[in-house]
Amino acid sequence: MTAFDYDLLVIGAGSGGVRASRMAAQSGARVAVVEAGPLGGTCVNVGCVPKKLFVYGSHFPEAFEDAQGYGFTVSPPSFSWATLRDNKTREIERLNGVYGNLLSGAGVTILRGQARITGAQEVTVGGAVYRAERILIATGSTPSLPTIPGIEHAVTSFEMFYLDALPKRAVVVGGGYIAVEFASILHGLGVDTTLVYRGPLILRGFDADVRGFVMGELRKLGITLRLETDVQALSRDAQGALTLTLHERSSEGEDEQARSGASTLTTDLVMYATGRHPLTEGLGLEAVGVALGEDGRVLVNEQLQSSVPSIYALGDVINRAQLTPVAIREAMAFTEQAFGTVAVPPVDYDLIPTAVFCQPNIGTVGPTEEVARLKHGALAIYEASFRPMKHTLTGREERTFMKLIVRRSDDRVVAAHMVGPDAGELIQGLAVAIVAGATKAQFDATVGIHPTAAEEFVTMRTPTRLDPL
Ligand code: FAD
Ligand code: NDP
Repeated sequence: MTAFDYDLLVIGAGSGGVRASRMAAQSGARVAVVEAGPLGGTCVNVGCVPKKLFVYGSHFPEAFEDAQGYGFTVSPPSFSWATLRDNKTREIERLNGVYGNLLSGAGVTILRGQARITGAQEVTVGGAVYRAERILIATGSTPSLPTIPGIEHAVTSFEMFYLDALPKRAVVVGGGYIAVEFASILHGLGVDTTLVYRGPLILRGFDADVRGFVMGELRKLGITLRLETDVQALSRDAQGALTLTLHERSSEGEDEQARSGASTLTTDLVMYATGRHPLTEGLGLEAVGVALGEDGRVLVNEQLQSSVPSIYALGDVINRAQLTPVAIREAMAFTEQAFGTVAVPPVDYDLIPTAVFCQPNIGTVGPTEEVARLKHGALAIYEASFRPMKHTLTGREERTFMKLIVRRSDDRVVAAHMVGPDAGELIQGLAVAIVAGATKAQFDATVGIHPTAAEEFVTMRTPTRLDPL
């Protein structure tokens, strides 16, 4: 007999928590997972999965238009938001069931309710107290909204998945992953969309050429970008229309008088996508002595162990990279060292492939040119920009951009960036080569697949920039 109810008690059945629970249980450990919401967490319910379904949906109007260049006559298509939303919800509910079966099948006990850590090895759910040898915090993150007057009139990505009706006009505030993806979805579904961002270039953290290129493509689509613009207040009138009070800042070197100033913007829906912070409120962490970072993240060591040795954390709540595959890899690393499950190499946080499912997609692996130069010294930069072959008949002005960053000292390809159709699909394969340490000569030696956009990555021969060695 052991004094513990469980060897491992996981808080949160999201991307990281589900994987950790299943792996630990399959190794023979007694495992319970506590979940306050639907199984699967953010990614399955209000993140990656329903978002991607909306992305697919938002491409159809363009596909109907493009079909005409290929000889099809399409009578004006009609669209039902309710059908897309409800079909999406049905699929998510099916996935909730799949997750339940996966957990039960692995022998994991599912505890329903809000968990609170009440001791170094004790968790309380409702009135019940459970003792566990190890506790794993996998509670994810939640949207961060600035405190401006009227912010209660704004919605976040969460509500976007359940809107009663699509608005005619929408304003998306923010310039990161969620803002850019939802601006593309809304525009694609026929909503008059404006993106308001406080800086001069959206998508901070991405390669500067990618950022500029994407802004150009979004503008070409007809999305209005209001840059260097702060939202100071929101208000709603009796008819339900929303007004944003904006303050446009001048860029350095520009005429302050000419550009800086206040204005208003009226719309039907305001969505805030201004980042997400770790979800640790109400967990009782301070009382048990778990050290937190300034943004509320659980501080962990290389073993994902918090300042309390029996308490571990992973995924968005440690805020290293808020991505599902990262939470899953961290879960594998945790269960390997705690329960001897399958060995995985440590997560290389510097080389995480990622995609933004805007229109067109961004796919990227490795550092930006700026960071690569600091990290790797002299670089050779290869770039290509072209009109995708498909659009030679559709007349669409969309362009594709590709970039390879090569370290000159040893010819190693250190990064690949792309903006174009299915960039995420394409970059995943390149990421294998880059993680494996492929050189530019090996890229060049690889035979292309013709005619594809991808072949451009093995046929770029002349650098557009070459740093002196
Ligand atoms: P989560 O999946 O958020 O799971 C945490 C779980 O803990 C939740 O189910 C929550 O209900 C539960 N919980 C919290 N507190 C308690 C408590 N006290 N008691 C009981 N249960 C609790 N990532 C990608 O890689 N690709 C994408 O395309 C992508 N798209 C996204 C789109 C959107 C709109 C959003 C918001 C995120 C997206 N992400 C994407 C990020 C991805 O969803 C997260 O990185 C991932 O879900 C993090 O997993 P996690 O296990 O850390 O937390
Ligand atoms: P991001 O951190 O990506 O972007 C937040 C944006 O909001 C930035 O442009 C930031 O500007 C801006 N911002 C922050 N605070 C304020 C403020 N007070 N006022 C105005 N603007 C502000 O967060 P998201 O919410 O877009 O997404 C959260 C995370 O979820 C992502 O970082 C990503 O890890 C994950 N995700 C992944 C997806 C994918 O893999 N495809 C899709 C969606 C989400 P600035 O840059 O100037 O700081």
